[in-house]
Amino acid sequence: MTAGAGKIRPLVAGNWKMNGLKAGLHEALTVRDALTAPLANIAADVMIAPPATLLLAMADACHPGPLSFAGQDCHVNASGAHTGDISAEMLKESGATAVIVGHSERRADHGETDRIVQSKAAAARRAGLTAIICLGETIGERNAGLALSVVARQLKNSVPDGATAADTVIAYEPVWAIGTGLTPSPADVAEVHGLIRRDLITRFGAEGAAMRLLYGGSVKPDNARVLLTVDNVNGALVGGASLKASDFLAIVRAYES
Ligand code: PEP
Repeated sequence: MTAGAGKIRPLVAGNWKMNGLKAGLHEALTVRDALTAPLANIAADVMIAPPATLLLAMADACHPGPLSFAGQDCHVNASGAHTGDISAEMLKESGATAVIVGHSERRADHGETDRIVQSKAAAARRAGLTAIICLGETIGERNAGLALSVVARQLKNSVPDGATAADTVIAYEPVWAIGTGLTPSPADVAEVHGLIRRDLITRFGAEGAAMRLLYGGSVKPDNARVLLTVDNVNGALVGGASLKASDFLAIVRAYES
Protein backbone atom coordinates (compact mmCIF):
# COMPACT_ATOMS: atom_id res chain seq x y z
CA MET A 1 0.00 0.00 0.00
CA THR A 2 1.18 3.55 -0.71
CA ALA A 3 1.51 5.94 2.21
CA GLY A 4 -1.40 8.33 2.06
CA ALA A 5 -3.75 5.97 0.25
CA GLY A 6 -7.36 6.95 0.82
CA LYS A 7 -9.05 10.29 0.60
CA ILE A 8 -7.95 11.95 3.84
CA ARG A 9 -5.04 14.25 3.04
CA PRO A 10 -2.28 13.34 5.48
CA LEU A 11 -0.46 15.76 7.75
CA VAL A 12 3.15 15.49 8.86
CA ALA A 13 3.69 17.81 11.82
CA GLY A 14 7.03 18.43 13.50
CA ASN A 15 7.01 19.24 17.21
CA TRP A 16 10.21 21.08 18.09
CA LYS A 17 9.32 21.11 21.80
CA MET A 18 11.66 23.38 23.83
CA ASN A 19 14.32 23.36 21.13
CA GLY A 20 15.39 26.03 18.69
CA LEU A 21 16.87 29.49 18.62
CA LYS A 22 16.87 31.98 15.76
CA ALA A 23 19.99 30.28 14.43
CA GLY A 24 17.83 27.24 13.66
CA LEU A 25 15.35 29.04 11.43
CA HIS A 26 17.22 27.86 8.35
CA GLU A 27 15.96 24.30 9.04
CA ALA A 28 12.38 25.51 8.47
CA LEU A 29 13.45 27.44 5.38
CA THR A 30 15.04 24.30 3.99
CA VAL A 31 11.79 22.40 4.54
CA ARG A 32 9.81 25.24 2.92
CA ASP A 33 12.14 25.29 -0.08
CA ALA A 34 11.95 21.51 -0.54
CA LEU A 35 8.15 21.63 -0.41
CA THR A 36 8.16 24.34 -3.05
CA ALA A 37 10.34 22.12 -5.26
CA PRO A 38 11.22 19.23 -5.62
CA LEU A 39 8.43 18.05 -3.31
CA ALA A 40 5.78 20.41 -4.67
CA ASN A 41 3.46 17.49 -5.44
CA ILE A 42 3.90 15.65 -2.16
CA ALA A 43 0.56 14.15 -1.10
CA ALA A 44 0.58 15.57 2.42
CA ASP A 45 0.39 18.81 4.35
CA VAL A 46 3.50 19.67 6.34
CA MET A 47 3.63 21.71 9.53
CA ILE A 48 6.18 22.74 12.15
CA ALA A 49 5.33 23.59 15.76
CA PRO A 50 8.32 25.65 16.92
CA PRO A 51 8.70 27.08 20.41
CA ALA A 52 6.45 30.12 20.81
CA THR A 53 9.48 32.42 20.77
CA LEU A 54 10.19 31.41 17.16
CA LEU A 55 6.67 31.16 15.80
CA LEU A 56 6.30 34.67 14.41
CA ALA A 57 9.81 34.83 12.98
CA MET A 58 9.47 31.39 11.39
CA ALA A 59 6.06 32.06 9.92
CA ASP A 60 7.23 35.38 8.50
CA ALA A 61 10.45 33.95 7.13
CA CYS A 62 8.66 31.06 5.41
CA HIS A 63 5.82 33.14 3.99
CA PRO A 64 4.58 32.66 1.34
CA GLY A 65 4.89 28.91 0.98
CA PRO A 66 3.35 25.52 1.58
CA LEU A 67 4.67 25.03 5.12
CA SER A 68 2.23 25.77 7.94
CA PHE A 69 2.82 26.37 11.65
CA ALA A 70 1.39 25.39 15.00
CA GLY A 71 1.72 26.33 18.63
CA GLN A 72 2.64 23.64 21.16
CA ASP A 73 0.03 24.58 23.78
CA CYS A 74 -2.47 27.32 24.53
CA HIS A 75 -4.36 28.70 27.51
CA VAL A 76 -8.12 28.16 27.64
CA ASN A 77 -8.78 31.91 27.83
CA ALA A 78 -8.28 34.49 25.11
CA SER A 79 -6.50 36.95 27.44
CA GLY A 80 -6.12 37.78 31.11
CA ALA A 81 -3.94 37.49 34.19
CA HIS A 82 -2.15 34.24 33.35
CA THR A 83 1.54 34.97 33.61
CA GLY A 84 3.64 32.98 31.18
CA ASP A 85 0.71 31.58 29.23
CA ILE A 86 -0.17 32.13 25.59
CA SER A 87 -3.66 32.19 24.13
CA ALA A 88 -4.84 30.54 20.94
CA GLU A 89 -5.61 34.01 19.58
CA MET A 90 -1.98 35.04 20.15
CA LEU A 91 -0.75 31.96 18.33
CA LYS A 92 -3.08 32.67 15.45
CA GLU A 93 -1.87 36.25 15.18
CA SER A 94 1.72 34.96 15.18
CA GLY A 95 1.09 32.81 12.11
CA ALA A 96 -0.19 29.50 13.51
CA THR A 97 -3.05 27.62 11.89
CA ALA A 98 -3.06 24.89 14.55
CA VAL A 99 -2.05 24.15 18.12
CA ILE A 100 -0.99 20.91 19.79
CA VAL A 101 -2.99 20.27 22.98
CA GLY A 102 -2.71 17.50 25.53
CA HIS A 103 0.79 16.37 24.63
CA SER A 104 1.85 13.76 27.18
CA GLU A 105 4.66 16.05 28.33
CA ARG A 106 2.06 18.71 29.19
CA ARG A 107 -0.18 16.11 30.83
CA ALA A 108 2.76 14.82 32.93
CA ASP A 109 4.70 18.04 33.60
CA HIS A 110 1.72 20.37 34.11
CA GLY A 111 -0.97 18.03 35.38
CA GLU A 112 -3.24 18.59 32.41
CA THR A 113 -6.37 16.47 32.63
CA ASP A 114 -8.60 15.36 29.78
CA ARG A 115 -11.06 18.11 30.70
CA ILE A 116 -8.37 20.79 30.54
CA VAL A 117 -7.28 19.42 27.19
CA GLN A 118 -10.89 19.53 26.01
CA SER A 119 -11.13 23.20 27.04
CA LYS A 120 -7.91 23.99 25.23
CA ALA A 121 -9.20 22.31 22.09
CA ALA A 122 -12.36 24.41 22.37
CA ALA A 123 -10.18 27.51 22.79
CA ALA A 124 -8.33 26.59 19.61
CA ARG A 125 -11.63 26.40 17.74
CA ARG A 126 -12.72 29.77 19.18
CA ALA A 127 -9.55 31.32 17.75
CA GLY A 128 -9.88 29.63 14.37
CA LEU A 129 -7.07 27.14 14.94
CA THR A 130 -7.09 23.39 14.38
CA ALA A 131 -6.50 21.48 17.63
CA ILE A 132 -4.05 18.58 17.37
CA ILE A 133 -5.25 16.57 20.37
CA CYS A 134 -2.71 14.08 21.74
CA LEU A 135 -3.62 10.78 23.41
CA GLY A 136 -1.67 7.72 24.44
CA GLU A 137 -1.10 5.12 27.10
CA THR A 138 1.90 4.68 29.38
CA ILE A 139 3.96 1.50 29.30
CA GLY A 140 2.37 0.39 32.57
CA GLU A 141 -1.08 0.79 31.07
CA ARG A 142 -0.11 -1.13 27.93
CA ASN A 143 1.45 -3.97 29.92
CA ALA A 144 -1.68 -4.15 32.03
CA GLY A 145 -3.80 -4.58 28.89
CA LEU A 146 -5.36 -1.14 29.35
CA ALA A 147 -4.11 0.64 26.21
CA LEU A 148 -7.44 0.60 24.38
CA SER A 149 -9.53 1.62 27.37
CA VAL A 150 -7.13 4.45 28.29
CA VAL A 151 -7.11 5.82 24.75
CA ALA A 152 -10.91 5.52 24.50
CA ARG A 153 -11.33 7.43 27.75
CA GLN A 154 -8.88 10.15 26.73
CA LEU A 155 -10.58 10.47 23.36
CA LYS A 156 -14.05 10.75 24.86
CA ASN A 157 -13.05 13.35 27.43
CA SER A 158 -10.44 15.38 25.51
CA VAL A 159 -12.36 16.09 22.30
CA PRO A 160 -14.99 18.83 22.59
CA ASP A 161 -18.55 18.39 21.37
CA GLY A 162 -19.12 19.63 17.86
CA ALA A 163 -15.58 18.80 16.70
CA THR A 164 -15.15 18.70 12.93
CA ALA A 165 -12.53 17.33 10.58
CA ALA A 166 -11.44 20.90 9.86
CA ASP A 167 -10.87 21.91 13.46
CA THR A 168 -9.66 18.64 15.00
CA VAL A 169 -6.75 16.28 14.42
CA ILE A 170 -6.11 13.34 16.75
CA ALA A 171 -2.53 12.24 17.47
CA TYR A 172 -2.06 8.80 19.00
CA GLU A 173 1.26 8.95 20.84
CA PRO A 174 2.03 6.05 23.16
CA VAL A 175 3.95 7.71 25.99
CA TRP A 176 6.52 4.91 26.04
CA ALA A 177 7.33 5.49 22.35
CA ILE A 178 8.08 9.20 22.68
CA GLY A 179 11.78 9.92 22.45
CA THR A 180 12.74 6.32 23.19
CA GLY A 181 13.32 4.81 19.74
CA LEU A 182 10.61 2.26 20.56
CA THR A 183 7.48 1.96 18.43
CA PRO A 184 4.38 -0.21 18.62
CA SER A 185 4.00 -2.87 15.95
CA PRO A 186 1.97 -1.88 12.90
CA ALA A 187 -0.74 -4.26 14.16
CA ASP A 188 -0.87 -2.45 17.50
CA VAL A 189 -1.05 0.94 15.78
CA ALA A 190 -3.83 -0.37 13.54
CA GLU A 191 -5.76 -1.65 16.55
CA VAL A 192 -5.63 1.68 18.38
CA HIS A 193 -6.28 3.82 15.30
CA GLY A 194 -9.19 1.53 14.37
CA LEU A 195 -10.71 2.09 17.80
CA ILE A 196 -10.21 5.86 17.55
CA ARG A 197 -11.83 5.92 14.11
CA ARG A 198 -14.82 3.87 15.25
CA ASP A 199 -15.38 6.05 18.30
CA LEU A 200 -15.07 9.25 16.26
CA ILE A 201 -17.61 8.02 13.71
CA THR A 202 -20.01 6.99 16.48
CA ARG A 203 -19.78 10.44 18.02
CA PHE A 204 -19.27 12.76 15.04
CA GLY A 205 -20.53 10.80 12.02
CA ALA A 206 -19.06 11.89 8.69
CA GLU A 207 -16.84 14.46 10.42
CA GLY A 208 -15.33 11.68 12.52
CA ALA A 209 -14.76 9.60 9.41
CA ALA A 210 -12.85 12.49 7.84
CA MET A 211 -10.68 13.53 10.81
CA ARG A 212 -6.95 13.07 10.46
CA LEU A 213 -5.43 10.53 12.84
CA LEU A 214 -1.69 10.97 13.30
CA TYR A 215 0.70 8.45 14.77
CA GLY A 216 3.46 9.89 16.96
CA GLY A 217 6.34 8.33 18.90
CA SER A 218 9.84 7.75 17.51
CA VAL A 219 8.87 8.22 13.87
CA LYS A 220 12.16 8.26 11.97
CA PRO A 221 13.18 8.18 8.31
CA ASP A 222 13.73 4.42 8.47
CA ASN A 223 10.33 3.48 9.96
CA ALA A 224 8.08 6.18 8.51
CA ARG A 225 6.87 4.23 5.49
CA VAL A 226 5.87 1.24 7.58
CA LEU A 227 4.05 3.28 10.23
CA LEU A 228 2.40 5.69 7.81
CA THR A 229 0.86 2.96 5.65
CA VAL A 230 -1.05 1.45 8.56
CA ASP A 231 -4.83 1.63 8.18
CA ASN A 232 -6.34 4.81 9.64
CA VAL A 233 -2.96 6.50 9.99
CA ASN A 234 -3.24 9.85 8.22
CA GLY A 235 0.15 11.28 9.01
CA ALA A 236 2.65 11.69 11.81
CA LEU A 237 3.51 13.88 14.74
CA VAL A 238 7.29 13.91 14.82
CA GLY A 239 9.46 15.09 17.69
CA GLY A 240 13.22 14.61 17.61
CA ALA A 241 13.42 13.81 13.92
CA SER A 242 11.73 17.09 12.99
CA LEU A 243 14.60 19.24 14.24
CA LYS A 244 16.82 18.60 11.23
CA ALA A 245 15.30 19.38 7.84
CA SER A 246 17.05 16.40 6.26
CA ASP A 247 15.45 13.91 8.68
CA PHE A 248 12.06 15.59 8.62
CA LEU A 249 11.99 15.70 4.83
CA ALA A 250 12.99 12.03 4.66
CA ILE A 251 9.85 11.30 6.72
CA VAL A 252 7.70 13.59 4.55
CA ARG A 253 8.95 11.65 1.53
CA ALA A 254 6.96 8.65 2.71
CA TYR A 255 4.16 10.43 0.86
CA GLU A 256 6.08 10.75 -2.39
CA SER A 257 4.30 8.88 -5.18
C1 PEP B 1 6.43 13.88 20.35
O1 PEP B 1 6.88 14.24 21.42
O2 PEP B 1 5.37 14.37 19.92
C2 PEP B 1 7.17 12.88 19.60
C3 PEP B 1 6.51 12.19 18.72
O3 PEP B 1 8.49 12.75 19.89
P1 PEP B 1 9.54 11.75 19.20
O4 PEP B 1 9.25 11.72 17.71
O5 PEP B 1 10.88 12.34 19.48
O6 PEP B 1 9.33 10.41 19.80
